Amino acid sequence: MCRSYVNKQGKEDSKMSEVLNVEEIFASNLFTVGKMKERLPKNVFKEVRKVMDQGGELSLATADVVAKAMKDWAVEHGATHYTHWFQPLTGITAEKHDSFVAHPDAEGRMLMEFSGKELIKGEPDASSFPSGGLRATFEARGYTAWDITSPAFLKEDATGVILCIPTAFCSYKGEALDKKTPLLRSMEAVSEQALRIVRLFGNTEATKVVASVGPEQEYFLVDREKYLKRPDLIFAGRTLFGAPAPKGQELEDHYFGTIRERIGSFMKDLNIELWKLGVTAKTQHNEVAPAQHELAPIYETANIAVDHNQLVMETMKKVAGRHGLTCLLHEKPFAGVNGSGKHNNWSLGTDNGVNLLDPGDTPNENIQFLLVLACIMKAVDTHADLLRQSASDVGNDHRLGANEAPPAIISMFLGEQLEDVVKQLVETGEASHLVEGGKLQTGVSTLPDLEKDATDRNRTSPFAFTGNKFEFRMVGSADSIASPNTTLNAIVAEAFCEAADILENAEDFDVAVHDLIKEYMTKHQRIVFNGDGYSEEWVKEAARRGLPNIKSMVEAVGTLTTEKSIKLFEKFKIFTRAELESRAEVLYETYSKNINIEALTMLDMAKKQILPAVIGYTRSLADTVIAVREAGADAAVQRDLLNEVSAKLAEAKAALVDLEKKQAAAGAIEDQKDLAFYYKDVVREAMAALRTPVDELEMLVDKKVWPFPTYGDLIFEV
Ligand code: ADP
Ligand code: MG
Repeated sequence: MCRSYVNKQGKEDSKMSEVLNVEEIFASNLFTVGKMKERLPKNVFKEVRKVMDQGGELSLATADVVAKAMKDWAVEHGATHYTHWFQPLTGITAEKHDSFVAHPDAEGRMLMEFSGKELIKGEPDASSFPSGGLRATFEARGYTAWDITSPAFLKEDATGVILCIPTAFCSYKGEALDKKTPLLRSMEAVSEQALRIVRLFGNTEATKVVASVGPEQEYFLVDREKYLKRPDLIFAGRTLFGAPAPKGQELEDHYFGTIRERIGSFMKDLNIELWKLGVTAKTQHNEVAPAQHELAPIYETANIAVDHNQLVMETMKKVAGRHGLTCLLHEKPFAGVNGSGKHNNWSLGTDNGVNLLDPGDTPNENIQFLLVLACIMKAVDTHADLLRQSASDVGNDHRLGANEAPPAIISMFLGEQLEDVVKQLVETGEASHLVEGGKLQTGVSTLPDLEKDATDRNRTSPFAFTGNKFEFRMVGSADSIASPNTTLNAIVAEAFCEAADILENAEDFDVAVHDLIKEYMTKHQRIVFNGDGYSEEWVKEAARRGLPNIKSMVEAVGTLTTEKSIKLFEKFKIFTRAELESRAEVLYETYSKNINIEALTMLDMAKKQILPAVIGYTRSLADTVIAVREAGADAAVQRDLLNEVSAKLAEAKAALVDLEKKQAAAGAIEDQKDLAFYYKDVVREAMAALRTPVDELEMLVDKKVWPFPTYGDLIFEV
């Protein structure tokens, strides 16, 4: 497997002489459709293609042939094991490896084996994953089923080469235990309903509508040696203590800045690993905060994009280790500088090449686009609560609404041109003119005049229309993008369905569609906001408009099990009531467990490292005071400092005792929801109360005695 993709170019200087053959690297570890076509008999390939495109099941005989071809390809590339790779409710991926080793024959010879049955279905025990009560351990059967639309791939690491088969994970009764199953269900739902819409406009060729997703992934890189000295980063993925460095991001000199050598070499290796997996790593740049970066791939079918985003996150961590770095995917690793998110770009396109979100040159005359837009406005307004929930995770509570990320309030940015079209339609029922983009004049004769987009960008909107797609900017950096896309597909499917129900039965289609667009836009116009989403005025304005402002993950959980939500998800067979209830349960549990880990980590650090260090420091100050006095000099400065440090120390100690008490008291709360709220309202407050005096102490005591690398060390010296 260890083929080199680097061609040496003569005797030139070592580093610069390496030429990457990206075309050859790309998808070399992916069992692509092309490879299947090459390796499978024609009729078998045809059956596979059909199931890929239209759904259905492979016959076992066909699956056997596919499995053999897949295994042969994998073994040729050095694979020894295979795994059903799945995405349980932990938000990350899971795998259990099986080798291809089979029973030796009578002569002791062994031929590697992999059957069709093993390819399409697995039964990992996997009973320890969160199931929110759907799966009691005594009836713990859980199955993984091959998602034939997401190609198998080879993972190479210290374990060797593993053939990974993307799968969905369900219980014995067929209930979803993972993030992929509902996503796939939602993709089918939105496809079916969107097809009804395009049929109304005479598109008879399309056979499905595909949700496409391009997630921009933000991340931090820190030096691994320093990381290993911070229990908070190790256990919680974020700093729980830490005074700000003298410099933050105020100079904006990191954003899009020159990429330092060490980081550049990480990015280069990361790209190669991702390209091998068929992930189209496209853009890379430094982000706003020091030590923060971003990678974006080219968009692709939603379920593959979700799989690939998981691979991006995994690969970032793996490659960082090889460079003596650690990749932090947490939404807020450092207080006071920007956190990380994941801009989820989403659109819908037919399989005959029409992007439903492409307004064209004259959106005011593009009735299909206006209907789609009206439906999305309706969907987002009706289910703003669900959309907000879909982007919540424990870490994202530090971002949303915290004046750096989008607010926790869902609104839609349409841009000047579309907003004006909507306004005209609402006011007069007609959109007769367009705000034009025009020319951008640079004022320099040697520079060309540029065609201006009709729409500027708005970086503060959580859900922004950006040309031919919506960019959902609330999603957290560490989170799976499965839930946001499942929700988007579901809510839009519902709006399409309701519109199609009306329009398919209309006597005069033109009049009916005109009226419907006007009706939806008028009713749901309140969701459109083009102003500054970070401003205080918007929070007030949104409240006046009656838009929900759900401030935390725990408060968002309840949106999953409202009658409105259950009706939506059951109607389109994406979640049953039981599945939704179980997911809510899992979310409460996840929250409590995470905050509990954070609280315990703080207590541990404070008791074992911070307090002893500060006590040692006060001792040396006291010694100094005595020595200076004995020498007949004035020890006022030393004494003042000693008093100041001692006072903060006492404050920290009291806060520690209080946190310890409150953390312990959580044990008495049985109801998962009550417990999660307790952690949010009581434990987190006690954590903050401990952090304040400790961070102040960090500013007072000798750096030599401080037990951890500081913010300055961590984010400026990578
Ligand atoms: P920016 O930071 O300017 O928003 P990037 O290039 O970083 O842009 O990321 C934009 C993302 O949106 C990329 O992943 C891109 O492939 C994706 N994208 C572009 N067009 C579409 C589309 N029609 N549907 C979904 N995603 C899209
Ligand atoms: Mg970007």
